[in-house]
Amino acid sequence: MKNQLSLDVVILGLPGSGKGTIGSLFAHEIKRDHLSTGDMLRALDRESELGRKVFALIDKGNFVPDKLIAEMVKEVLKEKESVVLDGFPRTLSQLPIYDELCQKLGRQGLFIKLEVPSDIARTRLLARAVKEGRTDDSAEVIQKRMEVFQELTAPLIARLKKQKRLVLLDNTRPPVEVVSELNLIYKGELERRWEHNLGTGYDGI
Ligand code: ADP
Repeated sequence: MKNQLSLDVVILGLPGSGKGTIGSLFAHEIKRDHLSTGDMLRALDRESELGRKVFALIDKGNFVPDKLIAEMVKEVLKEKESVVLDGFPRTLSQLPIYDELCQKLGRQGLFIKLEVPSDIARTRLLARAVKEGRTDDSAEVIQKRMEVFQELTAPLIARLKKQKRLVLLDNTRPPVEVVSELNLIYKGELERRWEHNLGTGYDGI
């Protein structure tokens, strides 16, 4: 029996807030796996039965069903101690799924929200569209993803704030700075900032 809970770092934020970038840099820093549900979904074969269903949703900026994400994540979390979780939980209904998994598997989540104004997030996504050609990075689908975020992820963020489980990190700074601050938070060396302290206008939540 482990006598310590595994600590996952759970990264939240607008599409384009830098979850993938910060998640993978930080995972490298702490020598843990970066588990991106978006990457896992995009790795599916487009021509398979499941792939066809999943891409029909994500290409339009919609979320996939909770059940599918829960199954995917459960399989991986069973095998690993601490990970950097990027993309799950991302709705209010996925929070109890994660909490239950934590209880069963002896883990806990440190929830981090990357704070970036939505116009910067949009600009970053459009720049990525040119570089990487992700099928959901067109202007129209970005708009839809922003709306889905407000509708489905904002309530999760509000709940975590209310429960004082959310740490806010300004991600308009260079990634190295953000990663080193995250490392301090992770190690418990920095006092956790539970309250929104970046002023208003960030993403309207
Ligand atoms: P972003 O956060 O920039 O939108 P991601 O790579 O994290 O990009 O996710 C891409 C897409 O994958 C989402 O728009 C959504 O369709 C799907 N997805 C990822 N994680 C989840 C989840 N936990 N629940 C439902 N859908 C998800």
